[in-house]
Amino acid sequence: MSEREFDVVVIGAGPAGEVCAGRLGEDGLEVAVVEPHLIGGECSYYACMPSKAMLRPGELLVEARRIPGVAEAVTGDLDTEAVLRRRAEIVHNLDDSAQLPWLEQRNVTIVRAPGRLDGERRVVAGDDTLVARKAVVVATGSSPLIPPIDGLREADPWTNREATTAKEVPARLAILGGGVVGVEMAQAYSSFGSQVTLIERGDRLIAREEPFASDDVEQSLREKGVDVMLGVSATSVRSENGEVTVQLDQGGPVHADELLVAIGRRLNSDEIGVDTVGLEPGKPIEVDDSMRANGSDWLYAIGDVNGRALLTHMGKYQARIAADVILGYPGGCVATNADGARSPRVIFTDPHVAAVGYTFDAAQQAGLKVRAVDVPTQGNAGASFYGRDDARGTTRLVVDQERDIIVGATFTGPEMAEFLHAATIAVVAEVPLDKLFHAVPAFPTRSEVWLYLLEALGIAGPCGGPQRA
Ligand SMILES: Cc1cc2nc3c(=O)[nH]c(=O)nc-3n(C[C@H](O)[C@H](O)[C@H](O)COP(=O)(O)OP(=O)(O)OC[C@H]3O[C@@H](n4cnc5c(N)ncnc54)[C@H](O)[C@@H]3O)c2cc1C
Repeated sequence: MSEREFDVVVIGAGPAGEVCAGRLGEDGLEVAVVEPHLIGGECSYYACMPSKAMLRPGELLVEARRIPGVAEAVTGDLDTEAVLRRRAEIVHNLDDSAQLPWLEQRNVTIVRAPGRLDGERRVVAGDDTLVARKAVVVATGSSPLIPPIDGLREADPWTNREATTAKEVPARLAILGGGVVGVEMAQAYSSFGSQVTLIERGDRLIAREEPFASDDVEQSLREKGVDVMLGVSATSVRSENGEVTVQLDQGGPVHADELLVAIGRRLNSDEIGVDTVGLEPGKPIEVDDSMRANGSDWLYAIGDVNGRALLTHMGKYQARIAADVILGYPGGCVATNADGARSPRVIFTDPHVAAVGYTFDAAQQAGLKVRAVDVPTQGNAGASFYGRDDARGTTRLVVDQERDIIVGATFTGPEMAEFLHAATIAVVAEVPLDKLFHAVPAFPTRSEVWLYLLEALGIAGPCGGPQRA
């Protein structure tokens, strides 16, 4: 056992840990990052990046088929092998050597071992004890949750890891869970020719989003041939002779060649020694808006493991906050986005669901006095170039009536992901509604949806003219 000292020890080198370690190293601190697996974490190799690589070709093909002139030129199906080859390139064939120089250039020491807290400011990593002068940052992320369904574990189901690294496409894929991972993988595998059955216990898909987003995604998956089963729970699973059978509490059974479990995430706080510093294993490591674990002046938790917003960009944002605070710049974190309530998020289905901040229901539950307006995403000149009637979509703004600002926005429609940031700026910067008529959307772009939204809200014209709703 050797003992080494650093200013900061970061446990976990997913997007959150990597960004935090890099920023601290850049500013001259002595930093160690402890990681037993791949630098870049779940996101780079088994989640965000491969899943989008698997979705984009099918999305593009569907979009091309909507455009007269292109539809006639594009007559074949996806070349799935080529898609999977490109996916493998995007995840660097699960080799993280391309990620190392960024940390090395910032003088960050990489310790390849699982890390575990061992009392205040101490981390055990393999044969090393790393002592932190200033801070320990926990960034251990999350893992797939496997529910206690009879026979499920024994059936050796796919998790996001197998679904995003598969080299072959099962003829029949059953998916448990109609959340973000479930709907994205249903779409990807159906575009590769799998017969997909999506089993969801609740009465709608992607239940945290606006109900119209759930409807749009459900309808689109059904049109693509996915068998969407709502209000149905798996009761037992058996795997025999290469076939998985899922028994359901009503209907079924479902037979498949592979079963993907996508019912949620378990936060990786159970095996990292949090009990040695008075915290409860298996629970989110709760933090304040400086990312300090409650009550501690040296322990920080960022990314999925604090349970605030299980999204890569929010983990990286939290990493920047933690780094600033550790470096001694603790200002500016009040009333920003640290609690995650105004997170932007995109579900890369067809249509995309791009949303920021509250849904209407969530805003009401948070005690805000809100109203919502809806307009068709495609109801403007710019949309003429994005498919025709088969490109469905709705845009909703949720407005705080007491402060006259937007607190939530949801866009469904083709290729809306890049659209979201204007709404994110309006929500996070709390832009007053009457200023928005001066942010003129270019013609003919789909951003003119903002004009229709402002009119639907009954906002006076740019110089105080009459309301036109
Ligand atoms: C299929 C799928 C698709 C997704 N798509 C998106 C998307 O498009 N956009 C988006 O924003 N989010 C997406 N997410 C969520 C995103 O992947 C996570 O929010 C993100 O990876 C969290 O980053 P993190 O750094 O907190 O943790 P992780 O990426 O989970 O990294 C944690 C790291 O800690 C390491 N670790 C664990 N235990 C220890 C230990 N004891 N010692 C040392 N290291 C340890 C792990 O090996 C891992 O490398 C997706 C998730 C899934 C499952």
